[in-house]
Amino acid sequence: MQRNVTPRPLRERFWAYVEKTDGCWPWTGPHTPAGYGWLTLGRRGWGQMYAHHLSWLLHFPGPFWEGWQVNHQCDNPGCVRPDHLWLGTQAHNMANARAKDRVYHLWVLHPRGDYPPSNPSQRRDPVTGRFSRT
Ligand SMILES: [Zn+2]
Repeated sequence: MQRNVTPRPLRERFWAYVEKTDGCWPWTGPHTPAGYGWLTLGRRGWGQMYAHHLSWLLHFPGPFWEGWQVNHQCDNPGCVRPDHLWLGTQAHNMANARAKDRVYHLWVLHPRGDYPPSNPSQRRDPVTGRFSRT
């Protein structure tokens, strides 16, 4: 691990990408093809994280259970406004989506997380932390 570089605090980097409005708070940084905002965790090899997930953790620090994920109440995947987010499992979210007559394509994000597998070059080995190039 490099020790000579101190990344900017994640909180600072997060807010630099948020545009606060009266409604949703759109993420102005990079988005996944499905429309979710994301950012890198600051150092090479640390991987990436969903912006709305980070928003949740910044506003509601606490335990985060394996298999739980941050969902959007506002159906806007690029939104990071904390009161538009809710914590649930994939099953909760699917039930919610079905209740809204829609099914979303969602990647399940784990706390130590692998970033969405849409791009194989970004796939990380959970044991070694290395990026798989296959
Ligand atoms: Zn929203």
